[in-house]
Amino acid sequence: MEINIRPWEEKDLEQVRAVIWQSWLSTYVHFIPEEDLSDFFNEHYSSRAIRELRRMPGVYGYVVEALGGTIVGYIRTKYDRDSRRYYISSLYLLPDFQGQGLGGRLLIAAEDHARTIHEVKRVWIGVMRSNERALTWYRKLGFKFTSEEPFRMGKTVIPHLIGYRDIGILAVEAMNYSSLSRKMTLSARAADLVQEQRRVWELLKNGLEALDECRRRTVECNNFSVILQHNPGRISNATAKIDLVSLASRPCLLCQANLPKEQRGIDLEGDCQILCNPAPIFYPHYTICHRNHIPQSLESHMDIFLQLAADMGPDYLLLYNGPTCGASIPDHLHFQAIPAGSLPVEDDIKGDEGNIAIKEGRTILRNISRKGRAILVARGDEKRDVKKIVQGIIFAMESEDPQKGGRMLNACCRKRDNFWQLIIFPRGKHRPDAYFRSDEKRVLVSPGVIDMGGVIVLPDQRDFDRLKGTDVEDIYREVSIGNEHLERIITRTKKILSGR
Ligand SMILES: [Zn+2]
Repeated sequence: MEINIRPWEEKDLEQVRAVIWQSWLSTYVHFIPEEDLSDFFNEHYSSRAIRELRRMPGVYGYVVEALGGTIVGYIRTKYDRDSRRYYISSLYLLPDFQGQGLGGRLLIAAEDHARTIHEVKRVWIGVMRSNERALTWYRKLGFKFTSEEPFRMGKTVIPHLIGYRDIGILAVEAMNYSSLSRKMTLSARAADLVQEQRRVWELLKNGLEALDECRRRTVECNNFSVILQHNPGRISNATAKIDLVSLASRPCLLCQANLPKEQRGIDLEGDCQILCNPAPIFYPHYTICHRNHIPQSLESHMDIFLQLAADMGPDYLLLYNGPTCGASIPDHLHFQAIPAGSLPVEDDIKGDEGNIAIKEGRTILRNISRKGRAILVARGDEKRDVKKIVQGIIFAMESEDPQKGGRMLNACCRKRDNFWQLIIFPRGKHRPDAYFRSDEKRVLVSPGVIDMGGVIVLPDQRDFDRLKGTDVEDIYREVSIGNEHLERIITRTKKILSGR
């Protein structure tokens, strides 16, 4: 049977809901009234609830995809940063797909994630005491159940046994896990760096704790949605002065000599270094900077950008902010890396195929037109062609607006299954007019790639409380470029690529 295990995506969620419900019906209905099950399901696994659940910090999941793309099973995990415990929150397979080793494979995928991303050596689980079949299965895999806790589902209270399993080599070998021997990946080394740095670097420790306190809410806009994040720790980034005089009069925070004495990094090829971002928006959140004090520019460093995306692997999204639209340190080349799947736009562009604007070899550039701001998506497996298209766009923006055109874009990139996918946001403006107001209508928002990608970072709580979908649409419209402008850029890019 053709089976694929991969991280869950937004498009899977309706099928995941069906898997949960059908598994409950076949298993739990023996000890929980169906009415309680359905009340609990409707409250905690509505379409909206599960969408929000998937975006919660620390929550991760994998699905089993059978032939034809049908989801037949799923596992969901949660890393609790306070207790440093990694929980298996759910593991379900459709009845017809049980007993074929798929549950074990889901568990391995989750444990691999636990080990490489959160550097834990133990996973935890809660299983209903009455669910004897599951308990037997978990015990066979080496889980030890050590305590009992009540869990309420509707009017029924069911005792749960709480257990753990050490992610030991023996247990893994027993399951014939072949990829354990692979060498430590860059993303695993980066995960180590965060754990190491939070122990010795107070600023990072505080930043991570502040991130835990951040409130988030989803706001529906016309044909897309965004997440607002109230993050007071981002105030200095949001208000950073990036004019030449201000830049010249301060020590560069990314130059080696000026790094805090506790800060350490991982050296990479191409003269770059991974550092932990002390004011994180996601967990983890890295800054990747060049060793030398050279200006922020994507067109000159496409090779580094694409290589970094490949090195960080499919679990990470690499980010770039143009020097005049989001980079708070525009005079020193740097990128960021965050967990893939963190930005709503990654899902948005799957639901909107857009128009194919340009083809270069096997690389395709699409124009996504209905998500409230200008979005271009380049996808290809040949580095040379991807590079050529992106440079073409930037040169076209420059010739459209020689003053600032080429500096006005944000981009994010992920390499997966041999393909690079770049999402590009051409920009017309850095900050909206509301940012510069001095009255109560001021909105402290300074959009960069993360905001354009659908996570709007708001240091001021008042903004977090009051911003509506239409406000977000207005901000996007104002800082993006219009359709005609975008069409001109595409036409000009085509001319540049064909050498005319
Ligand atoms: Zn510097």
